[in-house]
Amino acid sequence: MSEFVKNLMSQVKAKNPSEPEFHQAVYEVASSLSLVLEKHPEYRKEKILERIIEPERVIMFRVPWVDDQGEVQVNRGFRIEMNSAIGPYKGGLRFHPSVNLGILKFLAFEQVFKNSLTTLPMGGGKGGSDFDPKGKSDGEVMRFCQSFMSELFRHIGPDTDVPAGDIGVGGREIGYLFGQYKKLRNEFTGVLTGKGLNWGGSLIRPEATGYGAVYFAAEMLATRNQTLEGKKCLVSGSGNVAQFTIEKILHLGGKPLTISDSNGYIYDEAGIDYAKLKFIMDLKNVRRGRVNEYADKFKTATYVALDPSVDSNPLWNHKADCAFPSATQNEINGKDAANLLKNGVYVVSEGANMPSTIEAIEQFLDAKILYGPGKAANAGGVSTSGLEMSQNSLRLSWSREEVDQRLHNIMKSIHKTCVETAAKYGTPGNYVNGANIGGFVKVANAMLDQGIV
Ligand code: NDP
Repeated sequence: MSEFVKNLMSQVKAKNPSEPEFHQAVYEVASSLSLVLEKHPEYRKEKILERIIEPERVIMFRVPWVDDQGEVQVNRGFRIEMNSAIGPYKGGLRFHPSVNLGILKFLAFEQVFKNSLTTLPMGGGKGGSDFDPKGKSDGEVMRFCQSFMSELFRHIGPDTDVPAGDIGVGGREIGYLFGQYKKLRNEFTGVLTGKGLNWGGSLIRPEATGYGAVYFAAEMLATRNQTLEGKKCLVSGSGNVAQFTIEKILHLGGKPLTISDSNGYIYDEAGIDYAKLKFIMDLKNVRRGRVNEYADKFKTATYVALDPSVDSNPLWNHKADCAFPSATQNEINGKDAANLLKNGVYVVSEGANMPSTIEAIEQFLDAKILYGPGKAANAGGVSTSGLEMSQNSLRLSWSREEVDQRLHNIMKSIHKTCVETAAKYGTPGNYVNGANIGGFVKVANAMLDQGIV
């Protein structure tokens, strides 16, 4: 670790105690940036990195609501407005009981670099609540969303801050949030992305993160003159990102073998085909059930319940070629990474944000596999949100083919930036350095231009 990174990290830890995920995200980026800071003393002089790690604004608020039994419930709401150097704050809202300030700060920090990589004019932000939508009625989710937006609305706007979905926030929640914003502001604007198709949403937005992660994997494979055809793929999660990752793997001739949720995972040796994917989508999006039901329905699958006493995830311990972590942060630890490598996995394309620990990443880099970090590989979601914003501004809707083509081109361009930047800074094939440096430079230069603000 360079002296600069060491000093920076001790300051970050002292100033942001009890935020291990934020420390982890900063450490990963700062380690890559040592290479740039040596070449660009102006960034050091203007304290660009020290400024980037400090959110421009953090909003924390009470979210009271009434449940179906008439009991008052109180949750905590957050919005981290991290960096607006290249555009309005942009990033999702996460509703999950694990949400806290540190997790949202790590997500907002990552978002700054990811959004820059997309080539679209979007700054970075993230928000959410420790509210758990699981097991809640539609009425409860609606009342919660209305209360959440009753505070958030005064901080956001189509030219200020444009939230979207993330874990626990899908089409239903975006609808309730948008409805409340519209009522309070008395205006119909593109203040949220991921909207319904008949009220300002974009085709392909639901598919975009998963499709993008697979396009990114295909680009990485192309550097070795290979395709996804016939490749065995491990996928974690069973939500938005996982579902459309599986769909695109199928389009490109790959064989998805697994899905999971926070209770366990299924392994289907026959592969998940289109009919089985349809079952998963209905199970998760309509019936809001658990993945163990898949193994009851399809006899080629086995279900393994999560055992919290075990320090590795057996999902990552199957013979395969590719892995698409699409659930949550730190779902691949050092042991899991060793298992993946042992089982022949040589492509990892991260649909989730920061799913690999620092120990896991080090192993992937040492093994020189095709490792696409989340801020590059899952940027398709926010890219298509950017395209939704453009369509809202133009008051036009592009066709499915047009949006998909633009998404595909953006993923190719992100891949190219990563490859070229990694090579330029003397670490060819290192997509971590490529993504971190590629994302940083544009934001840093904008900050230099805009003075000390
Ligand atoms: P969803 O809420 O649709 O699905 C999340 C999935 O991950 C569910 O299967 C959920 O299981 C599982 N999961 C969530 N938390 C945990 C946990 N702590 N342990 C184990 N499993 C967990 O979310 P998305 O698919 O939208 O998001 C998945 C990942 O992708 C996140 O890291 C998110 O930040 C990232 N991402 C999402 C984007 C988007 O456009 N939606 C864009 C870029 C990144 P369960 O049902 O049990 O909760």
